[in-house]
Amino acid sequence: MRHWTATHLAKLAKQASKAAGKKGTDLPGQVARKVDKNILRKLASQVDEIVFISGTNGKTTTSNLIGHTLNVNDVDIIHNNEGANMAAGITSAFILQIKQSTKIAVIEIDEGSIPRVLNEVTPTMMVVTNFFRDQMDRFGEIDIMVNNIADAINNKGIKLLLNADDPFVSRLKIASDTVVYYGMKAHAHEFEQSTMNESRYCPNCGRLLHYDYIQYNQIGHYHCECGFKREDTKYEVSEFNLNPFINLDVGTATFNMKIAGDFNAYNAIAAYTVLKELGLNDEGIKRGFETYTSNNGRMQYFEKDSKEAMINLAKNPAGMNASLSIGEQLDGSKVYVLGLNDNAADGRDTSWIYDADFEKLAKQQIEAIIVTGLRAEELQLRLKLAGVEAPIILERDIYKATAKTMDYKESFTVAIPNYTSLAPMLEQLNHSFEEDKAR
Ligand SMILES: [Zn+2]
Repeated sequence: MRHWTATHLAKLAKQASKAAGKKGTDLPGQVARKVDKNILRKLASQVDEIVFISGTNGKTTTSNLIGHTLNVNDVDIIHNNEGANMAAGITSAFILQIKQSTKIAVIEIDEGSIPRVLNEVTPTMMVVTNFFRDQMDRFGEIDIMVNNIADAINNKGIKLLLNADDPFVSRLKIASDTVVYYGMKAHAHEFEQSTMNESRYCPNCGRLLHYDYIQYNQIGHYHCECGFKREDTKYEVSEFNLNPFINLDVGTATFNMKIAGDFNAYNAIAAYTVLKELGLNDEGIKRGFETYTSNNGRMQYFEKDSKEAMINLAKNPAGMNASLSIGEQLDGSKVYVLGLNDNAADGRDTSWIYDADFEKLAKQQIEAIIVTGLRAEELQLRLKLAGVEAPIILERDIYKATAKTMDYKESFTVAIPNYTSLAPMLEQLNHSFEEDKAR
């Protein structure tokens, strides 16, 4: 009875917060936990597999890749896919999504919440992406956090899926007898070097680690005089490249993914490891990996029949140069739509476009460039100065400008909005490509 009441109240809370215009991912869980403090424990006992995904960076992408792949393989899951990754949000996900047929829960968990949530729920497996220093103000020293997590998972029979290439993640092996390692071969890819603090010391004895190969930061192939070393992996990326999306080789499988950014290759191998350990084969994983896209206008991919598009926000010269480089990596003909607004949120000064390298466009095979937004004329002038020979079309209305790219059926649409031109451009692309999205 108490359980029913808690669940019922939580659902009411969700409706109430929705009516108030809020997303309400934490509130239902908060309400239910007030009524029944064992609610999460009870609900968790009703599913067979509970997978925790944690780490400093990449847990949302990893967890969404896993969730999407299980969904397209018709597996019913519970998934806290709105990033509600603390106790209340996790409780909400269980309450609102559990069904009779649900066997698997895919739970992204904030690394600082692990000890607390583990008091209520014991996952069957836990995958850890990486531990970086950038959030260490919140969690204290990296060693302390790793040791706290190790204490919380110790002797609970949890299968750990660990990134062998990160010494801090690998350190968690002290807390379980069942460990599966994943990682990346040396020279699999030339990584962009990150600006995060380096922490290349041994979590076992504190000495500096020796590295045979560094992917980036402290991630790589290492060993220490005390015997601590990168362990052999069960699943490993042998090679990957960006075109601009990730092409990933794992064992005998190749995945032509629709997400970009080289750090995401580690998230992909983490997700792959979970899915293999859950029993999926490469074919099933391919079905998920090759259809997963981001949905926030950052390197987001669209496809319908043979028409393809991508959108990437650019609000400064570096962002614009990165977006223009994407066109260089795409084979064949392109049509661009470039959006420039000067609303308050954009910053009124649009002169930064003179610091961006639009000259890159002069070298590409382009059918047309459509300029749009409140400052479309300025873009037009900038392109002329850059010596771009492709026809330039001015259409101030962002929806119409974006829709017009669909007329160029043989060309890949590259949409580059600035901050406030993103929403209308994305809305129009979603609309133009919506048949495929309904899949
Ligand atoms: Zn050592």
